[in-house]
Amino acid sequence: MKKFVFLTGLLLVVISSRAQVGDALIGAAPEQDKALISDEQLFRSVTKELSDDKFGGRKPLSVHEAPTLNYIANQFKQYGLQPINGNSYFQKVPMLSVATHIQGDGIPLKGAKGTLKLKNVDDIVIWTLRAEKQIKLTDVPLVFAGFGINAPDYGWNDYEGLDVKGKIVVVFVNDPGFYNDSLFRGKNMTYYGRWTYKFEEAGRQGAAGVLIIHDTELASYDWSVVQNGRNSAVLSLYSETGNKELAPIQGWISNSAAARLFLIAGTSLDNALAAAKQKGFKGFPLNLKTSIETINDVTIGESANVVGILPGTDLKDEYIIYSAHWDHLGIGIPLDGDSIYNGADDNASGVAALVLLARRFHQLPQRPRRSILFFAPTGEESGLLGSAYYAAHPLVPHSKTVINLNMDGYGDKMRTHDIILAAAGQSETDIYVQDAAAAQGRVVIPATSNTSGGYFRSDHYNFAKAGVPVVIAKGGRNYVNPKAVEEHRLLYKGKSTYHQPTDEYHDWWDVSCSLEDIYLLFGIGLRLANDGYFPKWNTGMEYKAIRENSK
Ligand SMILES: [Zn+2]
Repeated sequence: MKKFVFLTGLLLVVISSRAQVGDALIGAAPEQDKALISDEQLFRSVTKELSDDKFGGRKPLSVHEAPTLNYIANQFKQYGLQPINGNSYFQKVPMLSVATHIQGDGIPLKGAKGTLKLKNVDDIVIWTLRAEKQIKLTDVPLVFAGFGINAPDYGWNDYEGLDVKGKIVVVFVNDPGFYNDSLFRGKNMTYYGRWTYKFEEAGRQGAAGVLIIHDTELASYDWSVVQNGRNSAVLSLYSETGNKELAPIQGWISNSAAARLFLIAGTSLDNALAAAKQKGFKGFPLNLKTSIETINDVTIGESANVVGILPGTDLKDEYIIYSAHWDHLGIGIPLDGDSIYNGADDNASGVAALVLLARRFHQLPQRPRRSILFFAPTGEESGLLGSAYYAAHPLVPHSKTVINLNMDGYGDKMRTHDIILAAAGQSETDIYVQDAAAAQGRVVIPATSNTSGGYFRSDHYNFAKAGVPVVIAKGGRNYVNPKAVEEHRLLYKGKSTYHQPTDEYHDWWDVSCSLEDIYLLFGIGLRLANDGYFPKWNTGMEYKAIRENSK
């Protein structure tokens, strides 16, 4: 590894004189020059390009989608990947887009102890995913349903004995394990803690609406992340029912607004939480009513996943899949005059990693035995849509898919001594990560308290659900040069760029850890591409049976 870093440094010297020609190294430079671009240069140039303002934040179904898709497909082609879907690099993904326009100024609440008007965006963010021109809820009662969880496997049902039909349920994010290690999986968030689950379950219960109470610690992200994610048109996979199975209104309410809401209902947020944490919790009506009317612009459109393949040799009908979503949030609420959510780290960097890996595999003196699939799904930010579509319409059989290595957020990060393994203990892929890390002189740290539910928050989750073992591994917090990290951090002025217009590429990014992480994934994929083995899920994992029955 050391030797490699040194070599990269040398190459960079060569490149920096080349770079005078302009940043247009991609697309304009002659073929022989491209081969000379160092890994770092290639990685940076793709990240920079895709996160440029001209791609408008890469929102699916926007005018910026086609240029984004074409750019990625061209990169795939340039680095030797072949189309797999006939002669196309695209897998079309039918989507429904609904722009919700809330009528009136804010959401009125009438309670036993007073009235309240919640301000749109500031206090409450709501939308509909239903393909309906108008949603009108008049004087509907609100019901408190704890964490909104119906989990027979954990002996927990917040909806038991509760009539929520035609009503709006108010629930907490995360699951009770966050507060009590003996419940659920303790601090390790289960799928029941995710917002996607809360919305699904409320729909199954027949609710007219569902509001999740935001909490920065419980959700692991700020209220602004909620606002930025859902303030324009919302996307879902196209459904023939027009999403009639979902509650008409979905949304989030800020913590401070929730506190006021519970007060006029005659209780308090603290009391509600204290009750919800108890085993045997019973939901209750809230002495509150509201009316909501929305007028909606509904569009049925087609987005696409980008897919390229490097065919293998004697085991070419078996597949290693690298994935990284291409989409981001598009154009939204401005921050200091900037309304473009560039998504440089999230996830132009992941797509750049795909391109880098494609070139590495293509340049190998000997082609790998198994085929390598490079997969850039759409709609990850809207609920892992592109990968869900792929899981239901796979281009290669799941049973022949050896592993999914997913990359999300591989941007500015200085080198570390450690690797955090998010899904440790789930499958035999752990061994491959251990060995690859050891080869880099790094130590694997199993992520045991995954409070943010990271495991469910990117596209690998849809592969796991289809029975395909996954790897989610990234450099940790044990930095090689902690002092330099501290200084580097000052450049962010104490602010998170996650899902903000400030998630932009800068030449001052230090990508040494990200590159090392990508090489780690390269090593794992290369070994599996040649050893002919199918890593298995560990006993007790819910995906094991799915794998064994998979076709
Ligand atoms: Zn992402």
